[in-house]
Amino acid sequence: MTFHAAGESTDGETRGPERALALILLGPPGAGKGTQARQLVDRYGIPQISTGDMLREAVAQGTPLGKQAQGCMDRGELVADDVIIGLVGERLERDDARQGFLFDGFPRTIPQAEALDGLLSKMGRRLTRVVLLEVPAEVVVERNSARRSCPQCQETYHLLNRPPARDCLCDRCGVELVQRPDDHEDVIRNRMTVYGVQTSPLAEYYRRRGLLSEVDGQRAVDVVFGDVTQAVDAAQ
Ligand code: AMP
Repeated sequence: MTFHAAGESTDGETRGPERALALILLGPPGAGKGTQARQLVDRYGIPQISTGDMLREAVAQGTPLGKQAQGCMDRGELVADDVIIGLVGERLERDDARQGFLFDGFPRTIPQAEALDGLLSKMGRRLTRVVLLEVPAEVVVERNSARRSCPQCQETYHLLNRPPARDCLCDRCGVELVQRPDDHEDVIRNRMTVYGVQTSPLAEYYRRRGLLSEVDGQRAVDVVFGDVTQAVDAAQ
């Protein structure tokens, strides 16, 4: 993967703050948000802000936040809104977020979306686009059960559709791939219920504001990526 300086897209163009992209990827667990996000980072030169990755890092490091979040994550429940909003508020203050960002896994509740509106308006920013990746429930269960990820670079694989070149080793780092504890079937089902109750109302929240693009996430990664970038480019 190529890394670009904040605000520098793949064509080398630097974006001024007035054109800064502020994107959200919405969708159920396993819809492909992480995979799309990593490609979008390359294309637009903006950082991916994944609250799930930030929480997993905190758990791995045994920080107070990690200890507080771990139980909820293991059960497939959401971490408290005020914790997440605090985390995102701090993350947005970092230099690399000044010229744009892409949220993956945030917001997940209406209060989080409202808090984000407040944070953005304080920064004089507004959302560019919210892309909803739509994938039916049965596909979600199958995708999550077969998902493996690299504990080092977070790259994700699918044991059948996108297996690593060498048995269970990351193509990039050579590190042994792991299954996320919350990708076991019972926890996935709980995460889907939580998604339906707490997160899916966000589609309507953003649709009403004219910000939502719906993309069929069941197709090949590159085809989905084409539709996602088309939605983003049309909104700029
Ligand atoms: P993800 O990697 O986005 O699927 O997130 C993994 C887990 O982290 C979720 O099941 C939640 O327990 C927690 N989490 C991640 N993002 C959020 C969020 N925005 N709000 C609440 N909990 C979150």
